[in-house]
Amino acid sequence: MAKYIFVTGGVTSSLGKGIIAASLAKLLQARGLRVTIQKFDPYINVDPGTLNPYEHGECYVTEDGAETDLDLGHYERFLNIYTSQANNVTTGRIYQTVINKEREGAYLGKTVQVIPHITDEIKRRMLLLGKNNEYDIIITEIGGTVGDIESLPFVEAVRQLQWEMPEEDCVVIHLTLIPYLRAAKELKTKPTQHSVKMLSQEGVHPDIIVCRTEEPLSAEIRRKIALFCNVKTEAVIEAADASTIYEVPLTMMHEKLDLICLKKMNIANYHEPDLGKWKEFLDKLKYPKNKVTIGLIGKYIELQDAYKSILESFVHAGAVNECKVQIVNVHSEFITDANVPEKLFGLDGLLVAPGFGHRGVEGKIIAVKYARENNLPFFGICLGMQMAAIEFARNVLGLKEAHSTEMDPATTEPVIDLMEQQKKVTAKGGTMRLGAYPCSITEGTLAYKIYHSGLISERHRHRWEFNNAYLQRFEQAGMIASGKNPESGLVEIIELQNHPFFIGVQYHPELKSTVEQPQPIFVHFIKAAKEFAETKNAIKSTVLQNEMIS
Ligand code: GLN
Repeated sequence: MAKYIFVTGGVTSSLGKGIIAASLAKLLQARGLRVTIQKFDPYINVDPGTLNPYEHGECYVTEDGAETDLDLGHYERFLNIYTSQANNVTTGRIYQTVINKEREGAYLGKTVQVIPHITDEIKRRMLLLGKNNEYDIIITEIGGTVGDIESLPFVEAVRQLQWEMPEEDCVVIHLTLIPYLRAAKELKTKPTQHSVKMLSQEGVHPDIIVCRTEEPLSAEIRRKIALFCNVKTEAVIEAADASTIYEVPLTMMHEKLDLICLKKMNIANYHEPDLGKWKEFLDKLKYPKNKVTIGLIGKYIELQDAYKSILESFVHAGAVNECKVQIVNVHSEFITDANVPEKLFGLDGLLVAPGFGHRGVEGKIIAVKYARENNLPFFGICLGMQMAAIEFARNVLGLKEAHSTEMDPATTEPVIDLMEQQKKVTAKGGTMRLGAYPCSITEGTLAYKIYHSGLISERHRHRWEFNNAYLQRFEQAGMIASGKNPESGLVEIIELQNHPFFIGVQYHPELKSTVEQPQPIFVHFIKAAKEFAETKNAIKSTVLQNEMIS
């Protein structure tokens, strides 16, 4: 039988519940337990697929094609496991299921109510992953903040489960903020007391309080929190700000968060945490030997969370290369032919990000041209790959009108066109080409060198594709399709032959990069950027030497 840990949040949002949950899961996994994490989000959207990244950050896609919250990305990156549709549930999905059942007549004669029908459906889904004896522990993160009207049914479901389950099968963790008042030079516990009180009024009593804090918690403060919040002093956990999220499992281990949970759950069959690989990664991350600067060209650059998985993939790939990856965000809307050398000055590599809609695409195309002509390592993801194809068509093949029908439906040169299956799609939610698909790779290509394999699988989220009617002309001019879907022939990877590193992929490789398995294109891209930087420095020093001689 699986045991359940629930993680709730109080005082404010953005405290990092996802990272705390993932860190705890990592520690339990490192102790030999089978762990997974799921997230319950209180909003009405059925999934975050239709949300603007400005609202909700990146939309993370699982193997089975679910469009999910970005916290699932953290779970996968930390645990090196796959999550699925079942790992992310929203209020919208719960209501949709209940309403569909009501229409089918499943509740004939009954009034359908929040309690018990909605809460029963929440509970059913909370317990689902624990049914097949695949996991020892299921961690459930409840999105939102305690006290929000929207999260009430979720907290109520936790209350009922806490009551129904044997005491040792359930742990509730409450994550809160202990603010530091600079003027008074004091940490304040009152918001935490109120938050725990609110949770208790809703019927849930936390076993553990995890405190986000900028200053260390003294023994006295810990005692005070324990006393007022009615938990054991050792169950007051300090979560100090960390220099990287990847350090949090170690700080949580130091605070014994995992051991306190294991004790409460009466689990004894665990070993010392095996974190060798994790620590090796952290060491490389914290003490890099080199540095490269990568330009991230996108239109949501003001919001870090919009490209979360890409940024984390760079962290993983940087560590492999023992190299600090500094990301320079370049807003694609402001790139012009005239300013591109200045905008991209000093970069060792260029990544053109995924995206939708016409805003900023011309700037992306100009940036690709610069990378192609200046041997600057280039990596295009999804829309970034499509922009690379358009740039090549316009400036190398001379097809001045080349475009994607996404941005210019009437273009006479639809180098990127809507996929056939998409032409009849009208609804927006969950209807893109989503999730994992195979891709066969041609031997002797850059892609083959990167993956060391003729058949790979990566995740997708798109509606448009490379138009194969143009492929022959592209290949004759030096841009080849090195990866294709084996069944449909859909172009998955394009690369330039006469360039040190120029690759574009229709899929999203960033969704599969984890600490233990960094994504190979990112790893090779950083390696190419490192070589680019070295060559640049070598040229600089030769010029300097020559100047000194003359
Ligand atoms: N808008 C493009 C498409 O739908 C690219 C999508 C993306 O970058 N994820 O094909």
